Amino acid sequence: MLDADFFRRWMTATAVSVEHEAERLTALDSPIGDADHGSNLQRGFRAVATVLEKDEPGTPGAVLTLAGRQLISTVGGASGPLYGTLLRRTGKALGDAAEVDEQEFAQALRTGVDAVMQLGGAAPGDKTMIDALLPAVDALGQSFAAARSAAEEGAQATTPLQARKGRASYLGERSIGHQDPGATSSALLIAALAETAG
Ligand code: ADP
Ligand code: MG
Ligand code: MG
Repeated sequence: MLDADFFRRWMTATAVSVEHEAERLTALDSPIGDADHGSNLQRGFRAVATVLEKDEPGTPGAVLTLAGRQLISTVGGASGPLYGTLLRRTGKALGDAAEVDEQEFAQALRTGVDAVMQLGGAAPGDKTMIDALLPAVDALGQSFAAARSAAEEGAQATTPLQARKGRASYLGERSIGHQDPGATSSALLIAALAETAG
């Protein structure tokens, strides 16, 4: 079973990973964006780690909704509202249970990913974070490790795609040949999840 502490550790592990990879995320956002994805997420996940330490929410749902709200209020870029929605809607779907099992979590995360697609209008293949998140959710029914591999493969598979959503889409065909920064950070989020699960 997964409790509030598990979800807090997932968010903390994500914050650590974002600190390590911020430069790479910003570098990926340079040719097909505005070179701020790493700093956007760094600001956001630092704030998430801080608020989770201060408030100590007691349920999985409360941890993720608080983290999501924090991302929405601290990250100005497109990724803030999108990741914020992912976590907030996943948290909402978990309700107020003190513990959830892996299948319940997989279902809740699917609700969160659906909400991101609703908000941003992106479909699979549009070269966005969805290209890592959706395969991860599909594989989560199998295992955390399978979700991690699926997210990493999904992120790498964005390279030959032409962007159809977000800033990168302004480049048209020139967006081809670059890995999407948001899909890359989504793979970090899922990798942190798999690490937390052990
Ligand atoms: P901004 O583009 O505002 O500077 P970021 O650089 O932080 O924001 O985030 C860019 C990432 O956000 C992209 O690489 C992409 O994965 C994701 N993204 C942008 N628009 C959308 C959308 N409509 N739906 C899903 N993801 C999106
Ligand atoms: Mg950007
Ligand atoms: Mg920006």
